[in-house]
Amino acid sequence: MSSTIMVGSGVNGLLLGALLSHEGDKVTVFEKNKAVGGRAILKEKDGYVIDNGLHVTRFGPLSAVAKVMDRMNRHVEYKKVGESFLIDHDGKTVLFPTRLGGMFKTGLFSFREKIKIVGLISKIKRGKFNHLMHLSLGDWMAQHNVTGGIRRYFELVSASLMVCPFVEKTSAGEMFRTLHKILNCNHSVEYPQQGWLPIFNGCIDEIKTNGDIKLNSKVDRVIVKDKKAIGVMVNGESFYADRVIINLPVQELFSVLSEEMFEADYVSLCKNLIPTSGVFIDIAIKKRISDIDGMIYTYAPKALGMITSNIAEGLTPENGQLLTMWYPTSLEDVIDPGMREKKLEELWGAIRRFFPDIDENIHWKREKALKIVDGAQINIHQTEDLRPAAKVPGIEQLFLVGDSIAAPGAGGDVGNESVLVTFEAITGKTL
Ligand SMILES: Cc1cc2nc3c(=O)[nH]c(=O)nc-3n(C[C@H](O)[C@H](O)[C@H](O)COP(=O)(O)OP(=O)(O)OC[C@H]3O[C@@H](n4cnc5c(N)ncnc54)[C@H](O)[C@@H]3O)c2cc1C
Repeated sequence: MSSTIMVGSGVNGLLLGALLSHEGDKVTVFEKNKAVGGRAILKEKDGYVIDNGLHVTRFGPLSAVAKVMDRMNRHVEYKKVGESFLIDHDGKTVLFPTRLGGMFKTGLFSFREKIKIVGLISKIKRGKFNHLMHLSLGDWMAQHNVTGGIRRYFELVSASLMVCPFVEKTSAGEMFRTLHKILNCNHSVEYPQQGWLPIFNGCIDEIKTNGDIKLNSKVDRVIVKDKKAIGVMVNGESFYADRVIINLPVQELFSVLSEEMFEADYVSLCKNLIPTSGVFIDIAIKKRISDIDGMIYTYAPKALGMITSNIAEGLTPENGQLLTMWYPTSLEDVIDPGMREKKLEELWGAIRRFFPDIDENIHWKREKALKIVDGAQINIHQTEDLRPAAKVPGIEQLFLVGDSIAAPGAGGDVGNESVLVTFEAITGKTL
């Protein structure tokens, strides 16, 4: 039996730890906080089980999460989201198309735009996009004379699918690659039917069959000997294993490793990787206020969210609802206290436009501004090929897993897919 130390118990550290444990490894997870989950940590209060902001999974049963859980014989049912709605720039509510058929029904596009968008979407469904990886979505739209409703649609797809509302930054190739997959596999945004709790619990059980999860255990540094990772130091104590996997966003890598061991370019790549950032508001609602079971969008601001309890079971007490709304913005905005407040105000404005009676129905609420939502913004300088690989260069038996490394997709998918990429780098096996 080989042994693995996992530094961090984010969702991707847990998924990979559980997968390796299932394959026979003794996995020890060290987590600095008092609970597992990292950025996807769950909160339970007064019978409401709430994600840390919205945590939808693209591709549902075909996602990396589903593949890992299936491999461990812990199948997770996913539910497709229902019809989605947008409050457009002019204040009108229209259908937000998530399938080809919706393109014809929605009031978002004029008749001419409907013809054009169907043509563009058909090309994306058939196409290959490697040559567009380093072209921004903004430049691609200018080249294709994309204006009006189609421009607003792509802007919102960029904000939601890519978690990047800045079309001048988003990689057109990466976005179309994700859209291509969605269009061809017929699975888009989905949510675990019973929420995330069974996924976390399944991973914890799997890890604990052979190994352990140590909470309140901050790794001070990874022990490297003769250019090989052999263990970690935690509170002055050494723990040894055959390999070490670091589950931190790469921006934080050198909190546990010495920069001197690496080439300057690698250090700079990791430290300067731009994450996605933004503000979100979660609301535990006292009584049922809406039946919408799809995504909800506003164009100004470019915000989105969902009533998760209309999709998943058992997340609220009887008649309660859970709403989570999210407004992606820049790291600079989140760091600046004035801008942060302004963004939160704008997000409240968006919520009240959708649900005018929300204020009198709030049981409790939570507001947060986050510097790192996803580890990597998928901009033209940070496409998959340009991010750090699963294997840490120059050090044997040292690996990374998480949403800032070279793995396919966008947003949280990158992290979930990284579980498969790192698993393959370690074991040579594919799922
Ligand atoms: C508001 C919000 C909304 C989101 N929405 C979605 C969504 O809809 N869909 C989606 O797929 N993704 C979404 N994401 C992104 C998703 O949450 C992340 O991709 C995912 O949680 C990252 O997990 P991870 O395991 O890679 O890293 P992390 O969650 O960052 O895990 C790292 C862990 O390491 C621990 N740690 C750090 N330093 C040490 C140390 N020295 N010693 C021990 N432990 C340490 C941390 O405490 C943490 O638990 C969202 C994120 C946020 C914040």
